[in-house]
Order: sequence, then structure tokens, then C-alpha cells
Amino acid sequence: MDLYEYQGKELFRRVGIPVSDGRLAVSPEEARAAASSLGGPVVVKAQVLTGGRGKAGGVKLAEDPADAEQKARDILGLDIRGHIVRKLWIEKASDIAKEYYLSITFDRGEKKPLFMFTTQGGVEIEQVAEENPDALIRLHVDSSEGFQPWIARRLIYGGRVEDASEQKQIASIIEKLYKAFVDFDAMLCEINPLIVTPDGEVKALDSKFTVDDNALFRHPDVSEMRDTAAADPLEAFAREKGVTYVKLDGDVGICGNGAGLSMSTVDVVAHVGGKPANFCDLGGGGNAQGVVDALEVITRDPQVKSIFFNIFGGITRCDEVARGILEALERLDMSTYPIVVRLDGTNAQEGRKILADAGKPNIYPEATMLDGAKRAVELAR
Ligand code: GDP
Ligand code: MN
Repeated sequence: MDLYEYQGKELFRRVGIPVSDGRLAVSPEEARAAASSLGGPVVVKAQVLTGGRGKAGGVKLAEDPADAEQKARDILGLDIRGHIVRKLWIEKASDIAKEYYLSITFDRGEKKPLFMFTTQGGVEIEQVAEENPDALIRLHVDSSEGFQPWIARRLIYGGRVEDASEQKQIASIIEKLYKAFVDFDAMLCEINPLIVTPDGEVKALDSKFTVDDNALFRHPDVSEMRDTAAADPLEAFAREKGVTYVKLDGDVGICGNGAGLSMSTVDVVAHVGGKPANFCDLGGGGNAQGVVDALEVITRDPQVKSIFFNIFGGITRCDEVARGILEALERLDMSTYPIVVRLDGTNAQEGRKILADAGKPNIYPEATMLDGAKRAVELAR
């Protein structure tokens, strides 16, 4: 789950990383009020879950409250790489002497957290990595050792930070960023830019914070930060129902059990010339209720013309899935959907018999994944 800048900064603040004072605003009037309560010049910042806001006109300095109101009017409603701006973060403006970059992310290759630091901040980090690779200091952390003071020193000396006061402040921020990364089960904590003010104060001017979805149950306060209004309504509904679902663009609704089989099903439907409408995974223990929930989500997508159930029973029992399909037919209005069902593995015989005995005209049994995909694509036309 990606957090907005203001939410990431709230977590920074909690671990003691210095950030500027600010307020959230959703209208030009609120932006004006926020600016007058903060006092002095402010920055009006679009809150969207994408980077490069500055370049896209989503970050603007304002001299006074009236100016903040005007800048808010300009920024609200902007489309930044497909994200419409509905919220603003009004922050006390900072004077900038230097812009650095600091991040910690999870390096899946090395299976270790990775710190990156450079004094060439303010630009895209990919650009630094390409044009000036020596200026980008990379350092893995051994999770079993955890944070050690030498880690901060190596990053700081590697980046040639010479000022003693800056060194001290950055070392403390590095240690706190590691704490934030671990404490909140983050996948990424990035500060770009990490600024030094003309007075020599170091602070986080921006934040990019991604928390591991699988750890959200341990952080109800972070989980609450999810902006359901900005999420795809169908995906939000799926999440509510506990269904693993990703909306795609086609017309063949897909339901498999296990992420691997579900993804293969998406591929096979595309391979035979069809267009998958979604990815949907019933998971390992798919029971009848899970099937009903999945079908409720899939049929909310108006693009869906046919549905392909591809089940290979291991832990999942095919008779249970069959019962779920029949139950869904009872409870939801599904008479307009042709449903192709391929059942194999545990209790496949029983499952197929349950479906055959029900004699539903819109259920099409198929024996293999390939034939099932072909049939579902045909029926979608
Ligand atoms: P991003 O473009 O989405 O990464 O948004 P940032 O929060 O990083 O802001 C983009 C740029 O705006 C920064 O690199 C700064 O140069 C500038 N900026 C942001 N806040 C301030 C501020 O308080 N004072 C000044 N002078 N510039 C700022
Ligand atoms: Mn930034």
C-alpha cells in the first residue's frame, strides 16, 4: 500500500525524522485557512500516489493566504499521470541550500534491505544512477544484525558530506529511517529531497512510503490511511469481500485457485485470442462462500461477457467449488452469463456430477484448461 506524502511524513514525524509543519486541504478556501494558520510563505502540494508532481505543476510556492488559495485552485483537479488531484498538503515553505537523497528499500535479489544515499538529490534517482553512478552510495543491511552506527557513517562518508553538523543530523535520520522501515513493515521509505536549509538544518521535504500489504493487519492505524475514494471501486469492493482480484480490460471473467493457476489462465485466454476481464484467485482453501463472493465481484464488471472457472483441486475440493457456483446462481442474477467450468484434481468427479445433476443451461463443462479457455472466448463473442 502506497501512502500519500502527508501520511508518510506523519510516520516520519512519529519516529523523529524532522519534517515541516503542514495542514491538509481539500478546497481553495481550506488552503487559504491552512496558509494563514501556518503563517508566512507556504508550499501547496498535490497529494497523489505518483511522483514527479513538481514537474507536472503540482507543487507551487505561495507568498500569502490569498496566493495559496489561488495556487490551490490551479492544482486541484489537475491530472498528474492519470491521478486526479483531490487533496492538497499545505506546508510551511523551506529555504533550500542543498538537496540530497536518502532511501531504504527491499532488495529482493539480495533478500536484504538496501540503503541508497546521494548528495545529488532533487532529480530522479535513476538519472543519478545512470549518469553519475559513483555518486550513488548503496549499502545492504544484514537484517539479523539490524542497524549499526557504521552503516550511517559509511553512507555519509561515501557521499562526501563534509560538514560535521550535517553528518550528525543525517546519521540520526538514517537510523530513524531504518526504524520506520522495520517498525511499519515498509517496502520503501524514500526522502527526495532530503534538504539542508541555509541555517544548516536537515529535514525531509518529501516522502514516498510503501507498506507491505501482507503486514497491514499488524498496523491498523496505517491500514486506516487507505484512501478508498481514490481506489478502483471494483477493487475496493473485492478487498471488502476478501477476494484477491485485479481488474483487467477484456470480457472473459476468470476465476482460478492459486495465484499461479489464475495467472496461467489469464495467459491461456489471451493465447487463444481472448481478452481476460480480470485476475481472480480463490486461494488454496476455496469454499462455497468464497466462490459466491468471487462471482459477485466478477459480475459487477459490466465488461464481463463470459466466465471461466479453472480449478485444479489440491487443498481446494472441486465439489465445494461446484456447490459454490450453484449457490451463486441461486443468489445472484447470473442467467445471462455463460459459465465454463473445468474441474480437475481433488473430488473432481463429485464436482462434475453436482453440476451435471443441476442441469443449468448456462454451465459448460470442459475437461482441459485449453478447451475451457477456447470455449469461454467463443461464448464471450
Ligand atoms: P515531487 O516532484 O513529486 O518529487 O515533489 P517534491 O515534494 O519532491 O517537490 C518537488 C520540488 O519542489 C522539490 O525538489 C523542491 O525543489 C521544490 N520544493 C518543495 N517544497 C519546497 C519548499 O518548501 N521550498 C522550496 N524552495 N522548494 C520546495
Ligand atoms: Mn520528491
